[in-house]
Amino acid sequence: MLVVQKYGGSSLADSERMRHVAKVITDTYKRGADVVVVLSAQGDTTDELEAKALELNPKPSRREMDALLSCGESISIALMAMAIEAAGCPAISLTGRQAGISTDSSHTNARIKRIDTERMRRELEKRHIVLVAGFQGVNRFDDVTTLGRGGSNTSAVAVAAALGADLCQNFTDVDGVYTADPRIVPSARKLAEITYDEMLELASLGANVLQNRSVEMAKRFNVPLEVLSSFTPDVPGTLVKEMLTVENIQVSGVARDNNTARLSLVRLQDKPGVAAKVFSLLAREKINVDIILQSIGRDDTKDISFTVGAKCLDRAREVLTENREAIGFSELLIADNISKVSAVGAGMVNNPGVAARMFEALSAAGINIQMISTSEIKVSVLVDREDSDRAVRVIHEAFFG
Ligand code: ADP
Ligand code: ASP
Ligand code: MG
Repeated sequence: MLVVQKYGGSSLADSERMRHVAKVITDTYKRGADVVVVLSAQGDTTDELEAKALELNPKPSRREMDALLSCGESISIALMAMAIEAAGCPAISLTGRQAGISTDSSHTNARIKRIDTERMRRELEKRHIVLVAGFQGVNRFDDVTTLGRGGSNTSAVAVAAALGADLCQNFTDVDGVYTADPRIVPSARKLAEITYDEMLELASLGANVLQNRSVEMAKRFNVPLEVLSSFTPDVPGTLVKEMLTVENIQVSGVARDNNTARLSLVRLQDKPGVAAKVFSLLAREKINVDIILQSIGRDDTKDISFTVGAKCLDRAREVLTENREAIGFSELLIADNISKVSAVGAGMVNNPGVAARMFEALSAAGINIQMISTSEIKVSVLVDREDSDRAVRVIHEAFFG
């Protein structure tokens, strides 16, 4: 039996928590399993390192940012190896590079391309507990890269896939995936299981309990993934898998994403090719566009509104302003105090009325919907940020109340 366990920052916040996690790890090891552990940085280390960088340089190079941010995880693995040794078991720490994790060169948001498992296997054969630094890898120039915030989830699933592990356990500060973020909706319920597709959608729409790339990878390589709490490791968590043993329910969860901004181009010419021009300019800058809304033409003009990730807002504004003449619009309006709130469920496709129920809940609460987007398994609305907690609660109440 080979298990990959991942522990997030809050599970490692101080020496007491580290000692507790060391015990969970060694208990697993003593039951006879081969154990590979992927660790995040302790507590808020990554945020603190980022803040330090920005104090010295508001636009640091992404290469140096990776050199800095990856240190948090390197500290965790060395300290954990010491804690495990103190508990009487053999352990070895491996950085991303030592664990054979190769990525592309997209600094601060790199993708894992390949994992050479030789070193990890050699250590497992010696019955060592292998501690791998999450979030980091190395590119073909031998520079350290990081995988984007929450990237340790992805490191763990990738290592589990590469080693053919029997299970990937993601230990965090909640004991599973809930019908909504329990910090926003205290009455949210824990799901015993959820499909990869629904989890991928929830994670992509703001449920940061798992990084969406980790779910994508778990689905692709069919890695059984469990989300559970390091504080209560014996309580069964949520299993993320291909098919459910129970029938799909209409809505499995509600998610909220604050990391979004809306841009509106006012009075564009109403003729063919205008939308193509706008979105190809943005695509060329690698700006991902999410929800798009175009008004009907009136007096030969129309408006187009769309959303982008908050980090892309400045660049999107620049590109559109620089090309104002070529595109031909009279005004560019920007809203960055908005949130996207979504209901996700594989059962939606067979149940008309999910969107209506969601809109009714928002209307009863007096919350204005700015934009809507739907797919087979989700309905998303854009609302004012200050309404977003309430929006999550009333939508949750409408489906689970
Ligand atoms: P870690 O440090 O272990 O990686 P994170 O803070 O990244 O932990 O993720 C865990 C947090 O995810 C929880 O504390 C919770 O607030 C949040 N979260 C958001 N949506 C959900 C959800 N649907 N179910 C459970 N937790 C969620
Ligand atoms: N430490 C990184 C972060 O805070 C990676 C992770 O924890 O998954 O995003
Ligand atoms: Mg996380």
